Amino acid sequence: MATTYEAREIETDIYKFWENNECFKADAKSKKEPYSIVIPPPNVTGVLHMGHALDATLQDILTRYHRMRGYEALWLPGCDHAGIATQNVVEKQLAKEGKTRHDLGREEFVKITWDWANDHKGKILNQFKKLGASFDLSRARFTLDEGCSRAVKKVFVDLYNKGLIYKGSYIVNWCPRCQSAISDIETQYENEDGKLWEISYPLKDEMGAIVIATTRPETMFGDVAVAVNPNDYKYKDLIGKKCVIPLTGREIPIIADEYVDKSFGTGALKITPAHDPNDFEVGRRHNLKSIKVIDEQGRMIACAEVHPELHGRDRYDARERTIRMLKDHQVLVRITDHPHAVGKCQRCNTTIEPLLSEQWFVKMEPLAKAAIEKVKDGSIKFVPSRWEK
Ligand SMILES: [Zn+2]
Repeated sequence: MATTYEAREIETDIYKFWENNECFKADAKSKKEPYSIVIPPPNVTGVLHMGHALDATLQDILTRYHRMRGYEALWLPGCDHAGIATQNVVEKQLAKEGKTRHDLGREEFVKITWDWANDHKGKILNQFKKLGASFDLSRARFTLDEGCSRAVKKVFVDLYNKGLIYKGSYIVNWCPRCQSAISDIETQYENEDGKLWEISYPLKDEMGAIVIATTRPETMFGDVAVAVNPNDYKYKDLIGKKCVIPLTGREIPIIADEYVDKSFGTGALKITPAHDPNDFEVGRRHNLKSIKVIDEQGRMIACAEVHPELHGRDRYDARERTIRMLKDHQVLVRITDHPHAVGKCQRCNTTIEPLLSEQWFVKMEPLAKAAIEKVKDGSIKFVPSRWEK
């Protein structure tokens, strides 16, 4: 007999015993009071880490405790497909072999992505078993199972028919390489040695100018206002007046908004709602239209607002050319070093282009209202109760 405890031998047999005897299988027809936990499904992008082990142990404790107290206890396991994130890791894997998804073609790429997902699903569930998880494997789900997919479609159509889902323009993190909107969690911020360019916007019909500071001069063609802080003494007299965008001569208003930091740059910002999420919000507050000047490929759009020399040019090329033209017109006042965080696509590290895009939205207010009522009348309880807010 072994003198030390061999977890591998002993625990494998115990788990096998539990499985063979269906110890964790919940009976839907049971007369006992039900107690169930649906696992927050781990992504198949990777395997379980220590955080999952902690989380799973807590769920296991609760499930086992209630099972022993005579409840019909169900802990329902599963994994999440994680959508774009899984495509992302598979593409990174391919990149190591010097290939892209386009080399494989759609069918082959979908196939190897499924292989990846199935492989990780198996590994994840096995890791849970090693933790002694008392979940009901006969009910394991994957969020791309036919049943789950059908449920998503049904809910989508139902919400659409109720007018709770609609299409609208909204600023998104766009990756010009992936040709896809990227969620906030898939956007990584990296510090870059950027520059801050100070550009002089002449006032309309009078002498003088207002100098704005920007990290992205190429977006100036999409400006719809210059904004200053309402409490900024030095710009008090300019609020409500108009200035002119250099190089193209389009007139835009000078507005006041609390969002502007008096101490940043010159204290005056150009507002480009179509290509900056903060500007998008400022634009909404002041009812300003958005002018999109960069397309989904990251190229300058050939529209009336963009200087003709830049039409169709890549955003970085356009930046260089814009700076040169501003210098030639003697409206580039100052250039300072400005290290700042730049959003990158987690999939391919391309710099994100915030841009306006047609997106689906869910009207949350009526849905949230019903949920809040259920919390208030006690049907749903938060533990600890401070999360009820
Ligand atoms: Zn990308």
